[in-house]
Amino acid sequence: MATAGQVIRCMAAIAWEPRKPLSIEKVDVAPPKAHEVRIKVVASGVCHTDWEYLNEAGRGMKLRPFPVVLGHEAAGVVESVGPDVTKFAPGDKVIPLFLPFCEECDQCKCEKTNLCKKNWENTQAGVLADGTSRISCRGQQVYQFLGVSSFCQYTVVPDTSLAKIDPKAPLEKVCLLGCGVSTGYGAAVKTGKVEKGSCCAVFGLGAVGLAAVMGCQAAKARRIIAVDINPDKFQKAREFGATECINPRDYGNKPIQDILVEKTNGGVDYALECVGSPVTMSAALESTRDGWGTCVIAGWTETESMSVQVIKILMGRTLKGTYFGGWKSVKDVPQLVEDYMQKKLKLDEFISHNLPLAQINDAFNLLRNGQSIRTVISLENF
Ligand code: NAD
Ligand code: ZN
Repeated sequence: MATAGQVIRCMAAIAWEPRKPLSIEKVDVAPPKAHEVRIKVVASGVCHTDWEYLNEAGRGMKLRPFPVVLGHEAAGVVESVGPDVTKFAPGDKVIPLFLPFCEECDQCKCEKTNLCKKNWENTQAGVLADGTSRISCRGQQVYQFLGVSSFCQYTVVPDTSLAKIDPKAPLEKVCLLGCGVSTGYGAAVKTGKVEKGSCCAVFGLGAVGLAAVMGCQAAKARRIIAVDINPDKFQKAREFGATECINPRDYGNKPIQDILVEKTNGGVDYALECVGSPVTMSAALESTRDGWGTCVIAGWTETESMSVQVIKILMGRTLKGTYFGGWKSVKDVPQLVEDYMQKKLKLDEFISHNLPLAQINDAFNLLRNGQSIRTVISLENF
């Protein structure tokens, strides 16, 4: 590529400070250093975590450095590779990942977890391995959200945080496998290990929750109870496999966990929390049955605590959390792309809106108002 080795000037949505709209500006994206890859971002989903990072920074989320380019659910094409990169070449179709898979750390070698430790502190702090970001605006460093930053036409990621995918895959669809769909689906099939014939409840019916419903259906659950305070989400939930839909607000002050325990004659086998609220997390745990009920937390909050009645745990329940659905990112994402290509996995149905980067703030509003499931941002048609 003609741009290899040079700084690329392109457009990005910058968050200059918490709780302010993103600003569309020209940025400079430096060439990749050793073990880094520069990619042309083609499409990026807008995830609740992006919104949360901006608006809950220093509250429910840790305060990380600003200015930052958000976006972490993307797909693109390799533009150039830095020294010592062996697994990627210009033109490869790829999905950048906020969770790496280095294959070398003790956690990568362990089947019990997907939490690769490579560059962990750095990417959490918005920088790459050398402690700096590759994006700058008017000479000022702009941090890379979770080491990705896909609300930018180009970005640079470590070669251990990138999955090479089927060259035939439509990037404007498979971008959703970079976060939301993989997380919810994996919460059910991988972390929760939902069993055939079981009874499940999914709390929160955004992309993560609908993907969890899809996972419960793939696992052949007998009952899938979809719970949301926004009834507009119910039709989609039924399309994804929910057998019942419940709005907690239809029951006055009665706690949702009591309603679920009554409806299921003792509680659900699996409860999947896809909201991100400590109150719903406790409700999800308490809606599971004695003996073997399992609650999986996919919703994200970093500074808050959830309350757990000890007796609920004493009675045999299991409480689990999932980061990126338990998938070993670089290894498993290409297979999820294949599953989509072979129509074993839905993606198109999650996409409610398509917008250009210039309308990124509208995408956040649609998410907050409960009007969208996923908005896919096009980085090409600016
Ligand atoms: P979303 O905003 O699209 O969906 C959230 C849904 O929860 C909405 O439909 C909303 O109406 C519903 N809701 C709100 N309060 C509720 C309540 N009290 N009871 C029931 N439903 C309620 O969000 P999303 O993009 O699907 O993400 C969901 C959560 O998953 C967020 O917390 C996000 O940060 C988190 N997340 C976690 C990971 C991970 O790796 N664990 C990855 C991606 C997203
Ligand atoms: Zn996300």
